[in-house]
Amino acid sequence: MGKLKNGIIGFAIGDTLGVPVEFKSREELTRNPITDMKAGGTYNMPIGTWSDDTSMTLATMHSIIETGTIDTNNMADKFLKWFRNAEYTANNETFDIGRTTLQALAKYELKLNNASNCGGSSEYDNGNGSLMRVLPIAFYIYYKKIKDTNVIYNLVKETSSITHSHEISILGCYIYVIYTLLLLEGKSKTEAYKYIQKADYNNFSDYSISKYKRVLQDNIAKLAEDNISSNGYIVRTLEAVMWLFLNSNDYNNTILKAVNLGEDTDTISAITGGLLGIYYGADSIKESWKQKIKKYDYIIRLCDDFDRTIIAEEE
Ligand SMILES: [Mg+2]
Repeated sequence: MGKLKNGIIGFAIGDTLGVPVEFKSREELTRNPITDMKAGGTYNMPIGTWSDDTSMTLATMHSIIETGTIDTNNMADKFLKWFRNAEYTANNETFDIGRTTLQALAKYELKLNNASNCGGSSEYDNGNGSLMRVLPIAFYIYYKKIKDTNVIYNLVKETSSITHSHEISILGCYIYVIYTLLLLEGKSKTEAYKYIQKADYNNFSDYSISKYKRVLQDNIAKLAEDNISSNGYIVRTLEAVMWLFLNSNDYNNTILKAVNLGEDTDTISAITGGLLGIYYGADSIKESWKQKIKKYDYIIRLCDDFDRTIIAEEE
C-alpha cells in the first residue's frame, strides 16, 4: 500500500480498536485486556466503528482533495458537515465530540470569525482534539515537498487553530507533524526522534517548550509504563504515543498495548496507529481488522483521491 494508506488505515484501525473501551482505566484493562476488535463502549457501537478522530481526519483529507490546498474555512465547513449531517462517519451517525471542538465549531457556524480564529485559546483548551486530526497535514507537506520550517509551522498553526489555538496545542501538533515527515522520508524511528530533539522551535515560547520536556529533552522511550499517562491532555497523549512507538516492533501488538493503556484509548491508539502504519505498513495489519472496520473501501477511495489530486498537481 502507499504511504498515505498505510498511515490512514493504521490510524482508523487504532481508533476502532479503542472505541469499545474509551475511558476504561488501565487497571480494568489489565484485568480484562482488549485482544481483538469488538462492539460496545460508552456509545454502544457496532463492531468496526471508528470515532470522531477518524471522521475529522477524513473530513480534513476531503477538504484538501477539494481545494488542493490547506483552506481552513473549507476544512471547518467539512467539520460542520460531520457534526451536523454525520458525513465522514462509520454508521451515518455522529456520536462523540470534544468540548473545545464543539465550542469552536459553534463559533464558526455563527459566522463570528474565520475558522482559524475560532479555536479555544485558553490553557484549558489543550486536549488532544487537534493532534488527532493533523495527520493529513503531514502528508500534504510531504507530497508538496515543503521544507521551509516557517511554512510548515504556519500550516500546522492554522489547522490546529480551527479548534485548538493555544500554543501548547500547536506545538504538540508541530512535533507530531515533523516527526511523521522524518519517518516518511525514510528515517528510522530513533533517528527521527534524535532529529526532533535537536529541531528548531524558535516559533514557540520557552513556556510551551518546557511542557514537552519529557519528549524533547529526556528520553521518553526509557520511562516505565507507570510513568506514562494516557489521558486527553495533548502533552500526555503525545508522550504516550512516542513511548509506544519508540518501543514498538510491529503494528498488531503495539496497537493493542496502546488501547490497553486505558483512558483516552481511541485517540491514543489512533495517533499511534498512524505512525505504526507508516512504519510497518498496512499490509502487516491483521486481515480480520481490515475486514471488520466500517467503510474500509470508502477510506481507501479517499486515500486514492488524495494521492491522485495532491501528487498529480505537483508533477
Ligand atoms: Mg474519539
